[in-house]
Amino acid sequence: MLNKKNIDDLQVQGKRVLVRCDFNVPMENGVITDDVRIRSALPTIMSLAGKGARVILCSHMGKPKGVDPALSLKPVAERLSQLLQANVTFAPDDEVVGVNARSAVADMTNGDIVLLENTRFRAEETKNGEAFSKELASIADIFVMDAFGTAHRAHCSTVGVCEFVSETAVGYLMEKEIDFLGNTVNNPERPFVAILGGAKVSDKIAVIDNLLDKVDTLIIGGGMAYTFIAAQGHGVGKSLLEVDKIDYAKEMMEKAEQKGVALLLPVDTVVSEKFDRDADHKTVTNDQIPSDWMGLDIGEKTSQIFAEAIKDAKTVIWNGPMGVFEFENFANGTIAVAKAMADADATTIIGGGDSAAAVNILGFGNKMTHISTGGGASLEFLEGKELPGILAIDEGSGDRPALQKHRGCGCGSC
Ligand code: AMP
Repeated sequence: MLNKKNIDDLQVQGKRVLVRCDFNVPMENGVITDDVRIRSALPTIMSLAGKGARVILCSHMGKPKGVDPALSLKPVAERLSQLLQANVTFAPDDEVVGVNARSAVADMTNGDIVLLENTRFRAEETKNGEAFSKELASIADIFVMDAFGTAHRAHCSTVGVCEFVSETAVGYLMEKEIDFLGNTVNNPERPFVAILGGAKVSDKIAVIDNLLDKVDTLIIGGGMAYTFIAAQGHGVGKSLLEVDKIDYAKEMMEKAEQKGVALLLPVDTVVSEKFDRDADHKTVTNDQIPSDWMGLDIGEKTSQIFAEAIKDAKTVIWNGPMGVFEFENFANGTIAVAKAMADADATTIIGGGDSAAAVNILGFGNKMTHISTGGGASLEFLEGKELPGILAIDEGSGDRPALQKHRGCGCGSC
């Protein structure tokens, strides 16, 4: 059980608290097109500012090669000010922690909020260099890690800085991610069902391996299912297939049987003449996939079987769509799984990336218990890896009350 010091364990009044957020939001021509990650950071920011901390926010955005005005965090400061209905001072500074940032921090009074410039404007950031880590620490008394999306990366602003401040803790978002992706998955209420989909088996091998030791039922759909269907001895036509993973798929089917895990694979599939949203399509059983067609979604019978397994679950975790949900004709399997999860009397967890996008686009976002903000980070967590950005944080006292799931910030994830 992961138990980290959190912000409720801190005395923050009058202290300078550096908070690593994940403000790596999509932008088009300087306009933020999706602010979920900013909204998800609000509970931590509001709590710290409300307790009289001097809140210094930092984050990376994109992959700049040096200073790049197109990747400045200025628009994030503006959006934060709107959402918080409070002034968030942006510290424009090519050095990130240079003269401007130091002066903005020096001018702060209790409850003030400052946002630093994109941490990746400094090349040392991604190398976890000591000098920049020390600079970040020099403007703070306490470090709070709330950037789950980058917790799998050991960078100056996620890991290096921890060594040079006197106290560290996780923010509410990190705490929630750890609680659901870590603690709930490792200690689930049963039956525990995991659903894996998406394009490639090879991306999810370590996740399958790890989850087979924990779940009662493992459902596999999406493009990755065709490698399993091939392992059952069927032709899969032009569907996604990783020939070099067929033996692995066989091994996993055997492992599931040995462990008493119900491994549910598609029994029918929606095949299409080509990869096109309007292509001719039909539903066939696994033994009838035409050699020149491709499977782009699970079939109706499969959707029913998967939904039935989800209905009785008490914990469900899902990573990867059941088909090409971006095309309406091939979204039904993904919709069926999302709907079954929304209707289930269970703790429902969406493991980030494309499944989070699918659930939100299809309108089921507010029906899930937790939608992870991490893509790569949630996958690594589900692989059972220890994430450096979590490891670096001080341990908690161990007597914390149960996590509050609703903090009432209107962020959409609480
Ligand atoms: P991943 O990032 O591995 O979770 O994969 C997500 C992508 O897998 C989405 O863009 C889906 O369109 C795609 N996908 C899901 N099922 C299929 C399929 N049967 N054939 C091709 N692509 C698929």
